[in-house]
Amino acid sequence: MLARPAVRALVERVGRAPAKAAVRAAIAEARARLRAGSAQGSGDAQGPVTDAAVLALAEKDARPRLRRVINATGVVLHTNLGRAPLHPEALRAVAEVAQGYSSLELDLETGKRGQRSANVEPLLCELFAAEAAHVVNNCAGATLLALAAVAGGGTAIVSRGELVEIGGGFRIPEILAQSGVRLKEVGTTNRTRLSDYVLGLAEVRAAGSQPLVVLRVHRSNFALVGFTEEPTVAELATLRVPLLHDLGSGALDATLGDTTAGQSLQEGADLVLISSDKLMGGPQGGIILGTRELVERCRRHPLARALRADKMLLAALEATLRVYRAGRSGEIPALAAIHASPELLHQRATKLALELQQRGVRCTVVACEGQVGGGTLPLRRLPGAGITIEGSPARLLAALRAGDPAVLAIVREGKVTLDVRCVTDLGELARAISRAGDAAGLEGATLVDDGREV
Ligand SMILES: *Cc1c(COP(=O)(O)O)cnc(C)c1O
Repeated sequence: MLARPAVRALVERVGRAPAKAAVRAAIAEARARLRAGSAQGSGDAQGPVTDAAVLALAEKDARPRLRRVINATGVVLHTNLGRAPLHPEALRAVAEVAQGYSSLELDLETGKRGQRSANVEPLLCELFAAEAAHVVNNCAGATLLALAAVAGGGTAIVSRGELVEIGGGFRIPEILAQSGVRLKEVGTTNRTRLSDYVLGLAEVRAAGSQPLVVLRVHRSNFALVGFTEEPTVAELATLRVPLLHDLGSGALDATLGDTTAGQSLQEGADLVLISSDKLMGGPQGGIILGTRELVERCRRHPLARALRADKMLLAALEATLRVYRAGRSGEIPALAAIHASPELLHQRATKLALELQQRGVRCTVVACEGQVGGGTLPLRRLPGAGITIEGSPARLLAALRAGDPAVLAIVREGKVTLDVRCVTDLGELARAISRAGDAAGLEGATLVDDGREV
């Protein structure tokens, strides 16, 4: 097989191992076909394993496994889809720093060794009104590091209503255990009072455990409603032990409806831990904000080296923060998608439907409800619009995922539904849907607009 001219050319192009793998896969496919009784036409001079089959398999194998996806789910910070799309200035900063050398750990003024993340710390301190800041790979890492550095070997007091699982296996009791911090639960699932913390502190002190911290955890991905009670951050700060706030959301914009790290610090939290790809809309990253002394302890802890931020994260984060500082937060793609009005989205859905109609795809403009995603603001619904397409959902969804770019849609009331909220290029989406429709064997038909739903 490797001696065939077409396969020899393939070896030249992609290398011997990938070409061989494609040949083996083509032989296996042919064998399976023969066993199943569907022998190839005898007119084919190449026998059951054709060059075309080998080339097609080689091409499939050469496609990157990490591929671009058009997000038609209406979920803005979709963790499975990489959370926040970056601002163009952040993209440019990443490319510039990644393609060559940078001042990552060099102070260009003195020529001496500098501190990694010195490029973002002053910006973070200014934007969040924090004394000091340190950046790590993500917020889970920030929480692990802060607990280990401030409370390692001691005890953290946590409300029973905050022993949560954030997602991806991040569970507060397990993170405490991994940080070498004992857990002292106080209060109940729905109601915890300041007096519960006071009692818990006294018990832990009597048992001689040092150091001691109070950990407040944001219930990011669910809500507790009804007969509930919990002290404010300001009340917890009166306990006079270090107060660590695992906030998760890196929102700089208080209008999103979530507490911001700046507010938490102002109320008296000593350290606040946030994610730079949640409501901030930047790259994946974890940020520790707080007092100079405690942030310095995090920086000096051995885990800090294991969790350190890379140059691409730091470049993207600096550029993102500069967009906020310039008062242009409306340009942050995730925020623009969250704030997009239902009217605008309906117009865009109609435009998509017209493009699809020209391509002979039957679809209907419908009202959609998006979500913020990323385990933030779980009760917030984002009214918007999209289209539904007739046809077998399973086949169409698979064809949409197999395309390039892939498209991730949702199924609503048995119909494939595409929400336009997070879609930037409607023409590209229309072409992708049309190709997937052909692949899935959809019949052409006409557009029906029931826009009154929107
Ligand atoms: C999301 C979240 C985390 C984890 O953040 P990542 O950046 O995804 O690691 C930690 N704590 C809280 C409260 C969160 O909401």
